[in-house]
Amino acid sequence: MVFFSRGVSALSGWRCRRVNSSVISYLLNDFKAWNSPDRHHDLLTGMYSTCAKLSEDPSRDASVSDMLIDSFGRMHTYLRISLTERCNLRCQYCMPAEGVDLAPSSHLLSQDEIIRLANLFVTSGVNKIRLTGGEPTIRKDIEEICSRLSSLDGLKALAVTTNGIALARKLPKLKECGLSSINISLDTLVPAKFEFMTRRKGHNKVLESIYTAIDHGYDPVKVNCVVMRDFNVDEICDFVELTRMKPINVRFIEFMPFDGNVWNVKKLVPYSEMLDIVASHYHGLERIKDHPSDTAKNYRIEGHCGTVSFITSMTEHFCAGCNRLRLLADGNFKVCLFGPSEVSLRDPLRAGAEDMELREIIGAAVKRKKAAHAGMFDIAKTANRPMIQIGG
Ligand code: SF4
Repeated sequence: MVFFSRGVSALSGWRCRRVNSSVISYLLNDFKAWNSPDRHHDLLTGMYSTCAKLSEDPSRDASVSDMLIDSFGRMHTYLRISLTERCNLRCQYCMPAEGVDLAPSSHLLSQDEIIRLANLFVTSGVNKIRLTGGEPTIRKDIEEICSRLSSLDGLKALAVTTNGIALARKLPKLKECGLSSINISLDTLVPAKFEFMTRRKGHNKVLESIYTAIDHGYDPVKVNCVVMRDFNVDEICDFVELTRMKPINVRFIEFMPFDGNVWNVKKLVPYSEMLDIVASHYHGLERIKDHPSDTAKNYRIEGHCGTVSFITSMTEHFCAGCNRLRLLADGNFKVCLFGPSEVSLRDPLRAGAEDMELREIIGAAVKRKKAAHAGMFDIAKTANRPMIQIGG
């Protein structure tokens, strides 16, 4: 439970702040709100109105198979595929201090198995795939996987979320292989804090990857920053400065609970507080119209080349517009980031299942998907996997 405090006192020049009373009152209200009958009413009202908006969405694709449509009418056209459980960093919010039990490599999906399953999803209506991990760039065949995925008929976007440590040197080849967009995780602009949080060196390599991606024409390059109290709240405006001259989309992410990451509500910096910090420093902050399935609340700032976004999974979830599914490195299929239920696609696939049987398993899991996640306090109490094994 001492999580950051030891590291904070060990690093000079790193400001330590306590949770102020307005935040405590916000969190207490938030907790009461999560448990009130009104919340459930609001949740359902919001859910159905957004689902209604989704059904009126002109870009809604009539060719999406029933397999990908859940009982709330949400179309799941976005698949996140975790390529590995391994990582070259040890981020505190992603991996427990004691490490995780990694599946033996024979339990992980092979390249051919990934392509077979991806093809099943794409021919059913998935049009965007994101590669995650662990750290996807440490998988030796990532270029071949990109090349084969990007040639699937119907796939419009192939993205990656990476920590950026090994990206810069692989980027030219990955671009050739069809990688169309890049998210790079970076939680601090201070090298000493980076080493504390990731338990590894490499801050300069991450920055190099961000600028190399820009040089290769990725626009925008998205920078994912998990904001945690007593760690990086004081850097929010420094991150915003990255957007002034470069096509960078900085995405401030609320700290989320996963197994072993010692989540604590006091470390959560709510969207409203992050937005206040940005709004009080920058004039001309303007909300950009979001797509119904956007996870981010997007803003532009007058005179800035890039943009700023907030991922508000904890204080203002966006489950009503959810279009995401997850295929984990061991072949388990997961319909919700915070839902503990998983079903293996690897086992039936290796037992010789036909596509039709796999479609039935996938469709049944999608139909069981819940309207929304259970709320941060319940999520924190529910057994799920560590983020490193889910892929975010
Ligand atoms: S919590 Fe689950 S339902 Fe909500 S947006 Fe995330 S994946 Fe979708």
